[in-house]
Amino acid sequence: MHSSRTDCLARDAADPLAPLRDAFALPAGVIYLDGNSLGARPKAAAARAAEVIEREWGNDLITSWNTAGWFDMPKRLGDRLAPLVGAQAGEVVVTDTTSINLFKALAGALAIQAADPRRVAIVTERSNFPTDIYMAEGLSAWLARGHTVRLVDSPGEIPAALGDDTAVLLLTHVNYRTGHMHDMAALTALAHQHGALAVWDLAHSAGAVPVDLHGAQADFAVGCTYKYLNGGPGAPAFIWVPARHQGAFTQPLSGWWGHATPFAMAPSFAPCAGIGRALCGTQPVVSLALVECGLDVFAQTDMAALRAKSLALTDLFIALVEEHCAGHPLELVTPREHARRGSHVSFTHPHGYAVMQALIARGVIGDYREPHIMRFGFTPLYTSFTEVWDAVAILKRILDDAAYDVNAARGAVT
Ligand SMILES: *Cc1c(COP(=O)(O)O)cnc(C)c1O
Repeated sequence: MHSSRTDCLARDAADPLAPLRDAFALPAGVIYLDGNSLGARPKAAAARAAEVIEREWGNDLITSWNTAGWFDMPKRLGDRLAPLVGAQAGEVVVTDTTSINLFKALAGALAIQAADPRRVAIVTERSNFPTDIYMAEGLSAWLARGHTVRLVDSPGEIPAALGDDTAVLLLTHVNYRTGHMHDMAALTALAHQHGALAVWDLAHSAGAVPVDLHGAQADFAVGCTYKYLNGGPGAPAFIWVPARHQGAFTQPLSGWWGHATPFAMAPSFAPCAGIGRALCGTQPVVSLALVECGLDVFAQTDMAALRAKSLALTDLFIALVEEHCAGHPLELVTPREHARRGSHVSFTHPHGYAVMQALIARGVIGDYREPHIMRFGFTPLYTSFTEVWDAVAILKRILDDAAYDVNAARGAVT
């Protein structure tokens, strides 16, 4: 493909999603390709934070738990998030962190599987985001009932890793490094054939790609709101328990927010009916409130339109890098096949960390993941085709001039 910057300007002018960029505060001179790690700030978030702090907290004080709807917020925001992942109202709560929600979902799945003591294996990928593996290991060790975490090295090994001993297939839908996207329906069906439950992590999927949890017959899911959903740094995550599992769903973090009657102050725990039993305790209200500002932007479009633009952006980026940076030791690790691609693109380079630092110094913000992976996130709500062009032009200049410091010092976060 031979594209020009003029072509990109024309594509932006014809892009029906382009006006949504206006909903975001992005600094001038920055091409932000890291919305897969921390979404940009919706402009409305500043006013919303001020409202929560000044009026709801400052003026209305504790009455805001009722009058401002603080207490219902995990469920209300869950209902608003649900359509983005193919869930129904009453099946999602926004709460806690992805790691903690994974613990709850896995514990709930293992409790259902406890009827068959042979089912001790949690099958997942070695390339999964580490916290997912760590949480599965921690839960297994703490249960002390012989659970094990079985790691596979490629998606092709998943079928052979499932068997009569498998309790749970735990997968992240879109891989955080490569951007590879699993076939959720096919792998869930495979897990079910072996009597296993399928738990899906949607951290790089929610708000990035269309997800149909019910269509795929998935069993449990968790995900982030601070990535593609633009909820803000450290914004609470979400957990999905479908209606069909809610009656059997128990989780060990049985805090008072999951109680049937929290303000009865009963001396023993009785879970509430429905998704509320996935809650534990009091939430960070300011941060939680800001999640809604991101969801408000999604309400102005739909995942099909976002997916079409996401694929167009990632196709363009891959094509431009391969055309303009040919001859440099870059290797695409993201699937070319649309059905297997999420919304970020990763290239390896032997000096990936140094090259990414040079890009960031020139206003192109992506990030770096071991080993050697430069990661570029494309968020169709606010990324333009012209930005893709400009980012590749800057990358080309850095590579052609070898304008990167191979001894660049590393920050705590890469
Ligand atoms: C980002 C990410 C997380 C983050 O977990 P936290 O508990 O929110 O820090 C978890 N899993 C995956 C797959 C991720 O990409």
